[in-house]
Amino acid sequence: MPEESQQSPSLQRADARNPWLFDTHELSRRPGSSLPLRRELPVETALGVPDVVEVPSGSTVTVDLLLESVVEGVLVSGTASARTEGQCSRCLDPVSGDVEVSVTELFAYPESTTEETTEEDEVSRIVDDWIDLEPMVRDAVVLALPLAPLCSEDCEGLCSVCGVKWADLEPGHGHETIDPRWAALVQRLEDTPGGDTADGSDR
Ligand SMILES: [Zn+2]
Ligand SMILES: [Zn+2]
Repeated sequence: MPEESQQSPSLQRADARNPWLFDTHELSRRPGSSLPLRRELPVETALGVPDVVEVPSGSTVTVDLLLESVVEGVLVSGTASARTEGQCSRCLDPVSGDVEVSVTELFAYPESTTEETTEEDEVSRIVDDWIDLEPMVRDAVVLALPLAPLCSEDCEGLCSVCGVKWADLEPGHGHETIDPRWAALVQRLEDTPGGDTADGSDR
């Protein structure tokens, strides 16, 4: 107990500095022991592509995870979910939605075989009992975001000529397009007095 009361303040400080860090000390390297972890984690830098779809900065990602002690380290698995904001790829209206993704990641103990046989960036590490959930969650969420979000599956998008949403246009909306070669002729007929009665009656 005295050890714990000594450690807690420093852990809380670390926690307040970066809520994405989690202390695995409680698992005490006993393979088979596990710890549930459900948290709302703050998003400081938006995840995704601005003006397409993103988890905006200032929002949160909810993680619902199980941390399991295994021989090589701590296996983290569960889900991450968040609200998304973006715009419809067809009509450009704002679209909000949800993203939920499964995650599974091994955080290797220092000096474990896994740690010693993999490259630095190949596998996540446990540093002084701490794991950093951010890279894992960030990568998984970004990959799960839709490439072309839609306001509705059958969104008809915009008229390619006037750029107005089809949903806002009259049924049968269209633009008369005249071949430029005919345009001059039409112009001449319109300029000729009585040109519109010239159809055969003169000849
Ligand atoms: Zn749309
Ligand atoms: Zn139009």
